[in-house]
Amino acid sequence: MTRVFSGVKPTGHLTLGNYLGAMRRWAAVDQHEADALFCVVDLHALTVDHDPARVRRLSRQAATLLLASGLDPELCTVFVQSHVDEHARLSYVLECVATDGEMRRMIQYKEKAAREQRRGGSVRLSLLTYPVLMAADILAYGADEVPVGDDQRQHVELARDLAVRFNQRYGHTFVVPRATRPGVAARVMNLQDPASKMGKSDDVGPGIVYLLDEPDVVRKKVMRAVTDSGREVVYDREARPGLANLLEILAACTGGSPEELSGAYPSYGALKKDTAEAVVEVLRPLQERHKELCADPGYVDGVLRDGAERARGMARPTVDAAYRAIGL
Ligand code: ADP
Repeated sequence: MTRVFSGVKPTGHLTLGNYLGAMRRWAAVDQHEADALFCVVDLHALTVDHDPARVRRLSRQAATLLLASGLDPELCTVFVQSHVDEHARLSYVLECVATDGEMRRMIQYKEKAAREQRRGGSVRLSLLTYPVLMAADILAYGADEVPVGDDQRQHVELARDLAVRFNQRYGHTFVVPRATRPGVAARVMNLQDPASKMGKSDDVGPGIVYLLDEPDVVRKKVMRAVTDSGREVVYDREARPGLANLLEILAACTGGSPEELSGAYPSYGALKKDTAEAVVEVLRPLQERHKELCADPGYVDGVLRDGAERARGMARPTVDAAYRAIGL
């Protein structure tokens, strides 16, 4: 059976981008068709300026939202990265096959390092080595597939490169993983700035729809989305990025295609209204389930404890084998 691994970073509240670009497929497809592991990657949240209590709170919230989105612990493994020591153990070994140059070429590193510097902060070394830890997350479980949004594809490529290199140098140890992407909404953009992605780690903004936003807040954000001064609804990612983003969100929520939907709308206003309602409807069951789960913290604790135990059992043999192979 195909092994699948993916995760979310508790650096902020989860967004519609996380859901449409990744989580929705995990619940609808991956947990049914594969031996799947889903992880709250809290170690990754320490790579930028962070508040310890907030990271803990957001980790818990992310885990609860993963379950609320439909992940079923009977079908897949849900856990928190720091509960399983194997990630950090393997990361060090992979640092011994990765190079400084390939780390510095990572687009996300360049963007995030620049952002930290603009804020007057210093760049943590862990921000540079983040993709190695992510490779460890994937390789420790022998994952064949990593379902991610487009922003993470370069990191999955690196995990592939490191697996191939390690296997060539030290003998076959790792499965070589590949990234898989959702059909639409692989890159949901910020509603106020369609040139940048809707990212949870960005400053709270009116252009980001959070999974726990109240329906009226969602409506307001979508209705105020930046489009352009044209009138005709056409799907053109290059020339009309704001409009294309709305069409993709609507398509992802309703199951149509952005091209088809563009022909169905006489005006931007009508498109925005339907998009807002479609998002509200997609989020409604998730928010209800989230509320129920928050009322039953013992259940979430149990799921995460069992998940960590299962994950540890899967990762340990591979990580032990990597230690032996590299000379320890
Ligand atoms: P973030 O950038 O929000 O911190 P994470 O690194 O936690 O996201 O990513 C969790 C998953 O959500 C990844 O598979 C990522 O590709 C996906 N994802 C994040 N933002 C978006 C977006 N705007 N559009 C599509 N997918 C996204």
